[in-house]
Amino acid sequence: MAFFRSAILCGMLLQAGWLSAQENSPAPPSNPQLVSPEIERKVNDLLARMTLEEKIGQLVQYSATEAHPDKSTPTTAALNVNPPGPGGVDSYELAKKGELGSMLNTVGQGLTNHFQHAAVDSTRLHIPLLFGADVIHGFRTIFPVPLGTASSWDPEMITELAHMAAVEARTAGVNWFYSPMVDIARDARWGRCTEGAGEDPFLGSAIARAYIKGYQGTSLTDPASVAASVKHFAAYGAAEAGREYNTTDMSEVLLRQVYLPPYHAAVEAGAATVMSAFNSLNGVPASANPFLMQTILRDEWGFDGLVVSDYTAVMELTHHGIALDEASATEKALTAGVDIDMNAHYYDKELPALVHSGKVPMAVVDEAVRRVLRVKYAMGLFDHPFTEGPEVTNAVPEHRALARRAAEESFVLLQNNPVGGQPLLPLAGAARKIALIGPLADDSADMVGAWSGANNFNDVRTLRQTLAERAQEHGGSLLYAKGTDISGTSTSGFDEAVNMARSADLVVMALGESSAMSGEAASRAYLDLPGNQQQLLESVQATGKPVVLLIFSGRPLVLDWAGTHVPAIMEVWFPGVETGPAIANVLYGATAPSGKLTMSFPRAVGQEPLYYNQLPTGRPIQYPDPAHPNAYVETKYVSKYLDVPNDALFPFGHGLTYTTFGYADVSVSRPEVSAKELTTAPKAQPVVATVKVTNTGSREGTEVVQCYVNVRGASTEQPVRTLKGFARVTLKPGESRTVSFPLGFAELSFYNAKAQSTVEPGTHYTVYIGGSSTSEQAAHFRVTE
Ligand code: BGC
Repeated sequence: MAFFRSAILCGMLLQAGWLSAQENSPAPPSNPQLVSPEIERKVNDLLARMTLEEKIGQLVQYSATEAHPDKSTPTTAALNVNPPGPGGVDSYELAKKGELGSMLNTVGQGLTNHFQHAAVDSTRLHIPLLFGADVIHGFRTIFPVPLGTASSWDPEMITELAHMAAVEARTAGVNWFYSPMVDIARDARWGRCTEGAGEDPFLGSAIARAYIKGYQGTSLTDPASVAASVKHFAAYGAAEAGREYNTTDMSEVLLRQVYLPPYHAAVEAGAATVMSAFNSLNGVPASANPFLMQTILRDEWGFDGLVVSDYTAVMELTHHGIALDEASATEKALTAGVDIDMNAHYYDKELPALVHSGKVPMAVVDEAVRRVLRVKYAMGLFDHPFTEGPEVTNAVPEHRALARRAAEESFVLLQNNPVGGQPLLPLAGAARKIALIGPLADDSADMVGAWSGANNFNDVRTLRQTLAERAQEHGGSLLYAKGTDISGTSTSGFDEAVNMARSADLVVMALGESSAMSGEAASRAYLDLPGNQQQLLESVQATGKPVVLLIFSGRPLVLDWAGTHVPAIMEVWFPGVETGPAIANVLYGATAPSGKLTMSFPRAVGQEPLYYNQLPTGRPIQYPDPAHPNAYVETKYVSKYLDVPNDALFPFGHGLTYTTFGYADVSVSRPEVSAKELTTAPKAQPVVATVKVTNTGSREGTEVVQCYVNVRGASTEQPVRTLKGFARVTLKPGESRTVSFPLGFAELSFYNAKAQSTVEPGTHYTVYIGGSSTSEQAAHFRVTE
């Protein structure tokens, strides 16, 4: 049916001279990992034998409750992220009756096997449990927060990291990750931007695919694979004013062009599960939103896996005001497409009566159960429900090298001004007395960032520990003063810090946020350094000693003062267990930084939401009067602030290293391409943009070469530029390389006013290639009939 509709429309649109790829596509293919004749046969057979209670059980998820009956069971504590299930629910008893389908944040071989035995051995149908957990950036070997690893622009590395986390977690019985979070975040006030890849849909999609590949491997049955849960569907990152859980409201064009692509990329890459979001979208809560979960996810994208609600999101439908009671919340969520109720205790309570009264047809329940069972069969859980072998309980020594590389690649050198004629970093090899100052310099708890899984703080190597050793190896020494607390108001530690700075050759300051200041429920209205850290920074800077400022944060901060007064600034996010070695390596130049920002750093919080791919206005910052182009330049009645420039202090894509790169010969392979060519072969990439990149400095370095596209003359206005390609390139001093970016329908299309992806004849394209979103070297081509 979908196919016929598409074929007819396709003909009409071709006649009209433009075409939408959406309408051009046949029904999307099934995910072969989840849907095979064998799996469907097994699912049908089992479904036919299940009672209503057993079916509903598959849709119910709890954590291990305090009412755990067997106190002697060897357990590893559940992840300390969400409180246990609602009072009165005994998840173990439910598992024994076959009325529990999955568990959340219940980890450890002993504990998970204990529950699995209840589910498999004590029940009539022996259906195994899924164990889902918030393993976001490492299980025991914690690597940088996702916004940090995204700054590496290195999807292959992210795949390796994701796989490493899966390998560790499987030993502890976890077979399902509530990750990746692919919510686009354009507003740094929103604390959860730390969990995602930043503001850009193209990069976000590449990273989403990388996680799925790392988690799910080539087969879900592989004992080293976990099922991924792409979250939070959808547009959770667009919370108004950056306030957590807040409303999102946007046009379908914006939704499709900016917010949906990473979820879609993850689904296309085979994600087995999706988590519905807390927020409402255009007035309909995401966890009761048939447009999102049915029309887009299942009908358009062909998603065959299961949807789990976010934590108690089904219950929250009453708070949103669209459900009057528990029964109507249950009915709305399930019929809209939420298969599993995470911890709300609504499905198990309400569904029996809803089904008996006919309000919820049995077919709807069956379909939801089918999706859950599919995932369990696809993972081979019926054959191998238990976990055996040694359990990983601490950071794995062999995994540290990758965690360290991830940290090094995540760092973004924001500024590196000369001091005494030389950029301040890397630190010169000569013996030096270094003063390390700041509340994050020797703090292991905050190095792991939000959602640090089952991490053990003792595994973290702090900056102070490593830098002390490293300074000595270089014939120098390290002094250390905390100066103040992260949110401190007392200045009692200032004198010590300032005196220490005076006695040193150079100061390294470790300032920023605590782990808890980003992540869930961590929105901030001010984006400055918390507490009196800014005051400490200014006092130390006033000594006149050169300052290297390291910023630990889960989001962009406002660094305008530092940008003017501090020669070297490096954003290090929350680097994980290898914090100290990674930072020391980069400071001393054993490794050169290579990260690039994936979120714009504002000059002032009032600029938020701030993102590079904004739409143009009719009154840009300076424009000639079209009637008198030479006589008059408008600068007052333009789109700007009176008190701060429009642009980011440190823009998307920005990041320095210890060498420099030159860009030349930006060109495109042809001056025009027809819309017909692009639409009839949407997978082809007939335009190739190229650039010659040269390492113009004196040491080897890695550059992330970025390709942006702008289109003018289309039926809807389009962003001033949008990322459409990137490549990490390592060059020796003096070495040049030609880098190519193939462009086809996927890269050149945009959404028209009907929210259909399209290319349009008569449009002009500009391709910018360079080392950040502000690069100006460009080439042009046109799209014809
Ligand atoms: C978060 C999710 C998380 C879930 C389970 C919720 O509060 O929004 O991202 O996966 O809890 O812990």
